[in-house]
Amino acid sequence: MQKPKKVVMIGLDGFNPDLVYQWKDELPNLSKLMEEGIYGKIKSTVPPITPQAWTCVLTGKNPGHFGYWDFTYRDDYSYGQPELVNSKVRDERVDTVYKILSGYNKKVAIINVPVTYPPPEIPGGYSISSFMTPSLNKQFTHPASLKKEIEKIIGQYIIDASTSDMNFRQMDKEVVLKRIYDMDKQRFELIMHFIKERKCDFVFTVIMGTDRMPHLFYRYFDKNHRRYSSHPKYKNALKNHYKFCDENIGKILNLVGEDTAVIVTSDHSVQRLDGRINLNEWLIKEGYMKLRKRPERLTSLMQTDIDWSQTKAWATGFTGQLYLNLKGRESQGIVDSQDYERLLDELTDKLKAITDEKGERLDTKVYKRKDIHSGEYARFGPDLFVYFDNCHWNISELIGYDSIYSYDTPKGPDDGGHGPFGFFAMAGKGVPRKGKISDADLLDIAPTVLHLFGVPIPQDMEGKVLTKKEKVYSKEDEDEIRERLSRLGYLG
Ligand SMILES: [Zn+2]
Repeated sequence: MQKPKKVVMIGLDGFNPDLVYQWKDELPNLSKLMEEGIYGKIKSTVPPITPQAWTCVLTGKNPGHFGYWDFTYRDDYSYGQPELVNSKVRDERVDTVYKILSGYNKKVAIINVPVTYPPPEIPGGYSISSFMTPSLNKQFTHPASLKKEIEKIIGQYIIDASTSDMNFRQMDKEVVLKRIYDMDKQRFELIMHFIKERKCDFVFTVIMGTDRMPHLFYRYFDKNHRRYSSHPKYKNALKNHYKFCDENIGKILNLVGEDTAVIVTSDHSVQRLDGRINLNEWLIKEGYMKLRKRPERLTSLMQTDIDWSQTKAWATGFTGQLYLNLKGRESQGIVDSQDYERLLDELTDKLKAITDEKGERLDTKVYKRKDIHSGEYARFGPDLFVYFDNCHWNISELIGYDSIYSYDTPKGPDDGGHGPFGFFAMAGKGVPRKGKISDADLLDIAPTVLHLFGVPIPQDMEGKVLTKKEKVYSKEDEDEIRERLSRLGYLG
């Protein structure tokens, strides 16, 4: 199959495959991509959190190679995750598709992809940082002159749905709705600018409204939502936004030439959120964590006065990341290394036994990091990851609750949580009509993009090429058949 000259990749943060399938008839352009190429659910990272999920897309490597599993990370064995993720630390540790492609003289634009602040200095290419840009006064584009250029096209760049003085969960719904649409329109306009005017070979943009919308509007259409609320105005708010994205994808499909492959992918889904397990409170209740002083109000792990000399485990994040306080590793570690495995198993059993507040069983999965992630920085990561009820329950790391269950965040209500599978579809030049596939993984995107361009795939990329034809025979079957054909004299 002939290679495309260009690849356009549209990231839809949090786009939910089940909702795409449900609303397919009203999403003609995504349907076209699905019919003409390859599509399916795509496995997110563990945990399914935006920064490292998009980094897996950019690198084709698991988080152990770049060392972050959330918006914050540690690069020593400190308690908590004191550092904010950023592109500098990532680019020092791992190669990205933008670096590899620009090395082959491809003109690259990376627009609003999470963890691109500071803006990567892509030779001959362009970058615009995402929602971790501190402010518009900072340099958030590469080259610097791009800032003025994009201002002429889209006006003032909207960093995200939240404003500097308002959390998006507390904003007036109409105001935040308009802002999400305005923000996403800017991104779609920029994609078209870099395709049409700048004639880039590889354009990759992430739309964030697709994540912000379900966090705010899931309860208005899903009758299974615990806080379902019948609302004539907002019942179609999320579907309308999916349709808006579909329309814009249609514009892009009309704009690109015959020589282009188009990839649409999300990094995880956003799905119905039932509530939160206050995981550090649970650790305290079960005797794995001791406080010197109980906080009077909800307090983050790092600000709580914890007696580390009597604490065996702690949790961070909002999906369930659990660390052991290991002797010889953490500064005040108390868990013996020979007890490490047994304690992880003990915690796994107990975590799986946690029910919801009514005593109903939760379908909980627990992963040991050492079983799923490898690489130089894996050692700094959480020891366990917990998916309560397939992520329909998140966690809160805050301490100061009077129960192990909570519902709203301290910043306001949240309708949605991240689910472990995103949506992807691709079609166009170089993409065979394979239809629905079931084994796609975020790690497959980077090698697939390189393969489409005919660029060698580095040995250490972990994913597979999605556009390759599936083999009919397994390796063993093939050996057997070859041997038989050889015995029959058909093969030498
Ligand atoms: Zn995301």
